[in-house]
Amino acid sequence: MSVVVRFAPSPTGFLHIGGARTALFNWLYARHTGGQFLMRVEDTDRQRSTPESVQTILDGMTWLGMDWDNNDPALNHGKHYYSQFDMASRHREVAQKMVANGTAYYCYASPQELDAMRCEQKEKGLPQKYDGRWRDRPAHEAPEGVKPVVRLKAPQTGETVVEDKVLGRVTVQNAQLDDMILLRADGTPTYMLAVVVDDHDMGITHVVRGDDHFTNTFRQVQIYKAMGWDVPTFAHLPMILGPDGAKLSKRHGAPAVSDYRDRGYLPEAIRNYLLRLCWGHGDDEIISTDQAIEWFDFDGVGRSPARFDFAKLNHLNAHYIGLMENDKLALATLPFLEKRLGRAVGAAEQALLEKALPDIKPRVQLLTEIAEAAQFYFDVLEPDEKAQKILTPEAKGHLAALLKRIDALDAFTHDVLEGLFRSYAEENGLKLGSVAQPLRAALTGRGVSPPIFTAAALLGKGEVLRRLGGVL
Ligand code: GLU
Repeated sequence: MSVVVRFAPSPTGFLHIGGARTALFNWLYARHTGGQFLMRVEDTDRQRSTPESVQTILDGMTWLGMDWDNNDPALNHGKHYYSQFDMASRHREVAQKMVANGTAYYCYASPQELDAMRCEQKEKGLPQKYDGRWRDRPAHEAPEGVKPVVRLKAPQTGETVVEDKVLGRVTVQNAQLDDMILLRADGTPTYMLAVVVDDHDMGITHVVRGDDHFTNTFRQVQIYKAMGWDVPTFAHLPMILGPDGAKLSKRHGAPAVSDYRDRGYLPEAIRNYLLRLCWGHGDDEIISTDQAIEWFDFDGVGRSPARFDFAKLNHLNAHYIGLMENDKLALATLPFLEKRLGRAVGAAEQALLEKALPDIKPRVQLLTEIAEAAQFYFDVLEPDEKAQKILTPEAKGHLAALLKRIDALDAFTHDVLEGLFRSYAEENGLKLGSVAQPLRAALTGRGVSPPIFTAAALLGKGEVLRRLGGVL
């Protein structure tokens, strides 16, 4: 049987990085097995499920390079994804079928009555759960004018077993599980019912999700059994914690995938990082997506929660920046550069950025750092404190002398410039740094920059003369 998995986010306004990890593991498993990866948006909460918040999730997935196989609107009532809300009548239909086959029943207990029941249980020190008061009552006892909920007639004896691909075999005594609500009095389905019906209807073979859903699984298995449906295989993934060990959240600064994009991370680095955070293949740290697809299975998934480590992520990002071809990297850096410059960057400047990249790449971890390091090519920067210190009257004297020699140059390459500065330094009994550093400060406004003779050659003779003139 071919594998069918799904990513089933509830729109909350952003794609959480933990959700992206769940999506990644589903996607890898589908691609590894040649199966299907489906997108289901759990949009039953109408207030949160705005078109924008759904789109944010889809955009995050696209940015991360995870394509889904039900993108065709013809497959999903005109949407690019399966919408849980669209299936509400199907959920109701299943609840009615369960009532008809005797695995569910109408419960007319009012909220006040249920509150009183729980208070009593609490006072007696009993576990607080629905006591099944409408389980076996005949229909003619139903109070008039009260809209009932539909509850599962859960088995009261025996046990429910889940064989989880990550957590192993876990058993719960049925006596611990109460008759959960499947359909609310207003006819809307609960999460428990909707998830099971959708997973069944979509032909999901493997439910792969965060282990915060693990306790729901036992109840969901009971619904599958009540309908006589095949129970899928489950794999529950460990939580991702912040560096301090608490559940990863806004407090840690970057819960959304878009936060990472805006901070200059590459999707391939995020994918590699999220994979390694909860899955291992020997000691391999750097794992390309192709390798991940080849190697991924659930045996490598760890059971304990993983702690987010920005230093490791940055290290991976630096690695993928280093691997990226310069034209693609220039394109990826462009939005960050434009933001820094406060203006659009044209084709000639883009070409200059591309040429500057080989010297910048080895020194940075983030695209934002590339934009910062490259800014001087496009803007004359006010000398910072370090640069000001370098530009002493003596240093300026040397630069003035060098300006004349530069002006006389025909060829304007790295080697020619370095030769010129070396011979000037030798003639004057100076170290090369005593003249190269002032050149750096004058051209870049900084004490640190990419190798300065290459940078000067890229800026071109006219611009170098202009900038030297500007500081003298
Ligand atoms: N919609 C749920 C969530 O976003 C996931 C449900 C599931 O995977 O079964 O947490």
